[in-house]
Amino acid sequence: MTFNELGLNARMVSRLDAVGLKKPTPIQEQAIPQALQGRDILGIAQTGTGKTAAFGIPLVVALSKTPERPAPRSARGLVLVPTRELAGQIVRSLQGLTKDLRITLVVGGKSINAQAEKLARGTDILVATPGRLIDLMDRGSIDLGQTRFLVLDEADQMLDIGFIHALRRIAPRLSTDRQTMMFSATMPKAMAELSRQYLDEPIRIEV
Ligand code: AMP
Repeated sequence: MTFNELGLNARMVSRLDAVGLKKPTPIQEQAIPQALQGRDILGIAQTGTGKTAAFGIPLVVALSKTPERPAPRSARGLVLVPTRELAGQIVRSLQGLTKDLRITLVVGGKSINAQAEKLARGTDILVATPGRLIDLMDRGSIDLGQTRFLVLDEADQMLDIGFIHALRRIAPRLSTDRQTMMFSATMPKAMAELSRQYLDEPIRIEV
């Protein structure tokens, strides 16, 4: 399989090639064509399988298709992750996939005012940890009402840190007309429940 065969255009294929992604990994082979069709994805995959690009590529493709600018204090896509470190890594990976989209990192331990200022003009992709995102929502610095893409990465790790509580506050703010992709290394009962609650007829992929 090639990225071309997964339905990506020549520009994206050459960008992937430039960042060292020459051939899709198994999770990318399975997830990308389905995600490009707009399907919800439930991915069971460990770190190192290429799952970041498995959600990152369709996210970038979808957001690049419509050249609309994000409204002030809005995000067109949200990637929610358990740790600051993972959030930073995802931002760097996404930046390798596109130079045309605005990607904003929102995590604890950094100035909330600086983050609110960045969000003031809106962003294409917001990569966030739940606690800081809720703080910014409570201040009115971000409105997720126009967010049509949601990624929950390493969701099983988030179960340990009160994530379900955070998600109950965050998810209802998003557009109901959205695509959701959830990735987890394991699928305990609580994850299956989350999937039933927040995903719509997802394609289940296990690698
Ligand atoms: P992840 O599972 O997303 O944490 O990715 C693990 C590592 O694999 C990262 O360093 C990626 O840059 C790399 N990677 C992801 N997809 C591919 C691919 N198709 N070919 C080669 N390396 C890849």
